[in-house]
Amino acid sequence: MHLFLRKRTFLLLLILAILLPTLVAASGGGSKQAIVNPKQLYSYELMTSDIKKLADAYPELIRYRSIGKSEYGRELWVMEIGNGPINVLLNASHHAREWITTITVMNMAETMAASTAKQGVWKQLNTADLFDHVTFQIVPMVNPDGVTLQQKGLAAFPQQDHAGLIKMNKNSRDFKRWKANGKGVDLNRQYPADWDTIRQAEYAPSYKNYKGKKPLEAKEAQLMYNFTKQLKPEIAISYHSSGEIIFWNFKTKASNLPRDRAFVQAYAAMTGYRAVAPEANPSGGGFTDWFITEFGKPALTPEIAPAVGETNVPLSYWDRIWKQHKDTMWLIGTTAYEQAMLSEKAKKASATIELTSPATTYRYPDLNRETAKGVKPGVYKVTREKGSWYEIQISGQGSRWIAKSMAKPWSKPKPTPTPTPSPTPTASPVVTPPSPSPTAPIASEPSAEPTPTAAPATEIPIVAGSPASTIPTPLPTPSST
Ligand SMILES: [Zn+2]
Repeated sequence: MHLFLRKRTFLLLLILAILLPTLVAASGGGSKQAIVNPKQLYSYELMTSDIKKLADAYPELIRYRSIGKSEYGRELWVMEIGNGPINVLLNASHHAREWITTITVMNMAETMAASTAKQGVWKQLNTADLFDHVTFQIVPMVNPDGVTLQQKGLAAFPQQDHAGLIKMNKNSRDFKRWKANGKGVDLNRQYPADWDTIRQAEYAPSYKNYKGKKPLEAKEAQLMYNFTKQLKPEIAISYHSSGEIIFWNFKTKASNLPRDRAFVQAYAAMTGYRAVAPEANPSGGGFTDWFITEFGKPALTPEIAPAVGETNVPLSYWDRIWKQHKDTMWLIGTTAYEQAMLSEKAKKASATIELTSPATTYRYPDLNRETAKGVKPGVYKVTREKGSWYEIQISGQGSRWIAKSMAKPWSKPKPTPTPTPSPTPTASPVVTPPSPSPTAPIASEPSAEPTPTAAPATEIPIVAGSPASTIPTPLPTPSST
């Protein structure tokens, strides 16, 4: 009897186990089961596995690759979310014991993808449309060696390095306080922004605060530096975890102050954090110190938890952190988009493009303005462009704007062979480039509406390269680690 009941219970559980995933998938209507579980010790291996699962679950939106290896050969993964030419850079865990920041950006990544998959809306913005213009580039763990040491201790490191690691840890075998990389260098004191004048607290490799012998000596800082230089993001956020405050100003140019102050104030209002007033003599070397001076664009260093002393932030703070951050990525993404568009003016263009899937169209090249009827796949003439937008002509509807990332250059189909000899024997496909042409038939094709696109020159000079030239290319699939 007893045994029989157990057997029945077992069978019932077995049936449920088989059926449940199917039921969940069917009832979700596009919503998927969460991949990132934020309430657990979040290791490098777990992160690597989650990145791959996210890319598999959202192939149309997420790609990933490695930008290089850490001192101990762990990959510095970057996850790309979105298809637009305007880049936003998020990075986390420069400091080993601050790995709750990795959980935060991983959860943001999944939230962004899930929202987009189910046609989510944030403040009237269709989030899927944002990703036609903006791409989030996320490096969730800048310091995988340090995080691993902090979480797993010496066992995860080669025997011959144990004595050195213990020495750098002030003769303790408890690595909970570890902040540095695997070589005892503080990665957030490694960037070339007033590095010489960093107020030194340590003069040799240590579990914290050692700035190294020279800037970018640590592989991880060098990789971040090269990657960021190549990417030229509109905005960078470098997450740390102590104090619920936001650093945002490092010798910021007076002309950029109104823009950067508005951004940090919006972020502070959303999170409840305090924006830190700039010091008279700031100590440099941090990622955002360098970013602000190098690019003249806004960067924030949010400290996303109350100060907890020399250890990792307990997971019991997770709910509080997520409540503060759950919408911040939309603020960051829309701010980057608006900032990039400020420097863009509408120009005449002459090109022929192809849409391979239906696209949302807009009456103006502005995500915050009204959308118009969708447009079917097909071949369209481009008459103007503005930043990440094309103006196309739709018969019967006049002109509409679409995201450039939706379009690909149209190639004339190869003419079928005809019996009459052709004067041009090489009938190679002709790709019409989207270059402005003074002879475009634009004048005879009046726009349906006046477009408020002739943006006046603003007080914000966007100096770094044109964001429209960096459409992401397909990324190679990294091997398992
Ligand atoms: Zn930190």
